[in-house]
Amino acid sequence: MNYLPIFYDIKNKSCIVVGAGGIASRKVDLLNKAGAKVTVISPILGNEMARFMDDGKIIWIDRTFQSGDLVDAYLVIAATSDKAVNEQVAEEAESLKIPCNRVESPEQGSFIMPSIINRDPVQIAVSTGGTSPVLARLIRTNLESCTPSAYGQLAKLVENYRTQVKQTFTKVEERRKFWESILEGPVAEHVFAGRNNDAKALLEKMIEEANADPNYKGEVFLVGAGPGDPDLLTFRALRLMQKADVIVYDRLVSEPIMDLVRRDAERIYAGKERSNHAIPQENINQLLVRLAKEGKRVLRLKGGDNFIFGRGGEEISELIDEDIPFQVVPGITAASGCTTYAGIPLTHRDYAQACIFVTGHLKDGSSDLNWEMLSHKNQTVVFYMGLKNVQMICDELKKHGRKASTPAALIEKGTTPDQRVFIGDLDTLADLVLQNNVKAPTLIVVGEVVELHKKLHWFKPGEEIK
Ligand code: SAH
Repeated sequence: MNYLPIFYDIKNKSCIVVGAGGIASRKVDLLNKAGAKVTVISPILGNEMARFMDDGKIIWIDRTFQSGDLVDAYLVIAATSDKAVNEQVAEEAESLKIPCNRVESPEQGSFIMPSIINRDPVQIAVSTGGTSPVLARLIRTNLESCTPSAYGQLAKLVENYRTQVKQTFTKVEERRKFWESILEGPVAEHVFAGRNNDAKALLEKMIEEANADPNYKGEVFLVGAGPGDPDLLTFRALRLMQKADVIVYDRLVSEPIMDLVRRDAERIYAGKERSNHAIPQENINQLLVRLAKEGKRVLRLKGGDNFIFGRGGEEISELIDEDIPFQVVPGITAASGCTTYAGIPLTHRDYAQACIFVTGHLKDGSSDLNWEMLSHKNQTVVFYMGLKNVQMICDELKKHGRKASTPAALIEKGTTPDQRVFIGDLDTLADLVLQNNVKAPTLIVVGEVVELHKKLHWFKPGEEIK
């Protein structure tokens, strides 16, 4: 991070703006809105600044900047058209340790100002760390369009009832749940529709009802996190990730995805290696039940999709037995995400009319699988958890009639910036694993469609901008 984002209380504090042109007056306007006492130092005033002067919004010192002008200031903005003056202001601010913004060359001041989405008292500030003001503006435009203008109203409504709600719910967790039900439910909808009185009445009713029974029931969200790229999350996954009190997650959930989980949520690692479960499945099921019974919203977050080699079925079966409410959110499974990012279509009119997802993690050796069926032509076979058995997989397929020259791919850490793809055939695949030190998680794809990678590969994670 190049800068520390903060919100600074400057109410009734002395702030100095050196310069009085258009840009300076826009800064003055902002400082005024935040309640600062603004002094403008400049021999002449621009139009807008003159109006501020007439309206009593600024104190004007009508001369050029002098050493000693900043002594009492909490914040300084150097906004003259003279670079040398701005430099002098910045240097003096630096020696007094007063934050200073230089509008003509922000990187030379001690702070920069963000783009703002204003829903007073809600403020959203956007910064690209000084790299691209245009990008910041673009992001701002996007946020403007998806941030209801009534958020400010909603914040004010909430503020009026904070003390009362604090008294009703003494536990932080219960309080948070209550506020979420307000901010995501019909009270918020009333505010967005301009029905503030209805919103107020409903909020009061909900506080009253909660007074009678303040216990919230826990629930479990089984959420598929997809193969790794956070952009592949569903909207619902993201929403529930932000809402959960505790996260029970697997090794396969990528770090950038974990970064999107609510910051103050408790995290429990249930890491699932091939045969080395950090917590045995039985205990995971019990853990989910126990956490939900404590009244928590539990997020069971797993790589890919929970219902594809994810043991989601076992988990919800236990929840049903225990009468615990739950939701299941599908995720993009590795077979879909990784082959797409590797430019290998799973089906193709000319080469594959079917595709099969199969586990390569075999309890009783090769006898677990129907190799006869897996060795048919014109289909794509995707092996999950197959890395350790890659040699045996290729051997069995050949033994049951697949040609040795059948194209096969290894996709390691698919959809992430570390994705690697290796293409070979049933004779060479096991060697490719050794030669390239291929590690889990890796997907094995067998079938003619693998050939298409040559032309269709489009995701090039090596080409990052440094
Ligand atoms: N529920 C998951 C699969 C869990 S089994 C899903 O739907 O994707 C774990 C196996 O999935 C790994 O051994 C590997 O074969 C595959 N896998 C998961 N994520 C992967 C990734 N990003 N790249 C390559 N393979 C992946």
